[in-house]
Amino acid sequence: MDTKQVKAYGTASAKQPLQEMTINRRAVQPHDVEMEILYCGICHSDLHQIKNDFGGTMFPIVPGHEIVGRVTAVGSHVTKFKAGDLAAVGCIVDSCGHCEYCNDGIEQFCDEGVTYSFNSPDKHLGGTTFGGFSKTYVCDEKYVLQMPPFSNLAAAAPLLCAGITVYSPLKHWQAGPGKKVGILGIGGLGHVAIKIAKAMGAHVVVFTTSASKVEDAKRLGADEAVLSSDAEQMAKYNRKLHFIIDTVSAKHDVNTYLNLLRHDGSVVLVGLPPEPLEIGAFNVVMGRRSFTGSNIGGIAETQEMLDFCAKHNITADIELINIRQVNEAFDRLERGDVKYRFVIDMTSLKK
Ligand code: NAP
Ligand code: ZN
Repeated sequence: MDTKQVKAYGTASAKQPLQEMTINRRAVQPHDVEMEILYCGICHSDLHQIKNDFGGTMFPIVPGHEIVGRVTAVGSHVTKFKAGDLAAVGCIVDSCGHCEYCNDGIEQFCDEGVTYSFNSPDKHLGGTTFGGFSKTYVCDEKYVLQMPPFSNLAAAAPLLCAGITVYSPLKHWQAGPGKKVGILGIGGLGHVAIKIAKAMGAHVVVFTTSASKVEDAKRLGADEAVLSSDAEQMAKYNRKLHFIIDTVSAKHDVNTYLNLLRHDGSVVLVGLPPEPLEIGAFNVVMGRRSFTGSNIGGIAETQEMLDFCAKHNITADIELINIRQVNEAFDRLERGDVKYRFVIDMTSLKK
């Protein structure tokens, strides 16, 4: 298959900083869309993967899966896009397309294994997929999203992962009027979850380990914000919440949060702590509570989420950086020093 050489930023090992490299993108196939990348968000999953936290990273790796771009070319069979359109790619760039999960629009659970936008086996070129820290992306139009005209496009990029990862469980567990929803952790995912849950009409209670975020949570739209180290405050929420979205990226005690659930409530884990979590039997047996999880969302739901966020004027609070600041950004993300998402201006990577 013909390929094009493209500039990217990535790393050959977990021990090295990211640096400029050259990767191959496939030549546009009949169903493909090619885009020039304008913005790419930095998600904590990018950090987990470059550090090889889960042990499955295939090096060299080019991260990035919150990708917004402008279409530069389309294949002969493409119907939804033309050159010049804004477009976006999130976490999913391929799936089998015929299993029951794909048929149900939950391609993230594809029987044959979903292809993620980076660090997945690449069905076309062999090797692995390379993400959005690069000049271009090429993808079948089925997995390309239509980008509504957000006034701040850079701030909309994080919706492609952070947005769908919280929208999907908020919808599935029915956030809405009359529901008290907890959000655990105010990072990239958590701060977007506050905005989306509020727009769905829920009463939102946020739990944070950072004193500096308590006041800010209200600015973001939370009805109540609790410093989780304050046992007296925490006790006030025992058995009060319908469900909790847990976005925490490191090992933590979920039992504390199971106890804040009403009967039949759920703690829904979306964060990916690399270590196993422990659950006390009585914390789920009493009150018929559940500990469960959710993984990103399908393509149709991602489009629905983008349209919902455009309608409700929801974007992320971002710090826009250039590509040379990317290693410093990862260091700061690791220290929790970001309010609340880094987005890279990809035009700063020269051809
Ligand atoms: P992030 O911006 O780093 O936010 C994580 C937040 O968790 C922090 O801001 C902090 O909030 C809290 N936190 C961090 N360490 C903690 C600890 N040791 N104990 C308690 N709280 C802690 O990360 P993100 O980009 O939002 O991603 C969050 C997690 O979701 C990551 O593990 C990521 O890989 C995962 N993820 C999963 C999916 C999925 O589909 N399931 C998709 C995307 C990302 P406070 O300062 O408020 O306490
Ligand atoms: Zn992500």
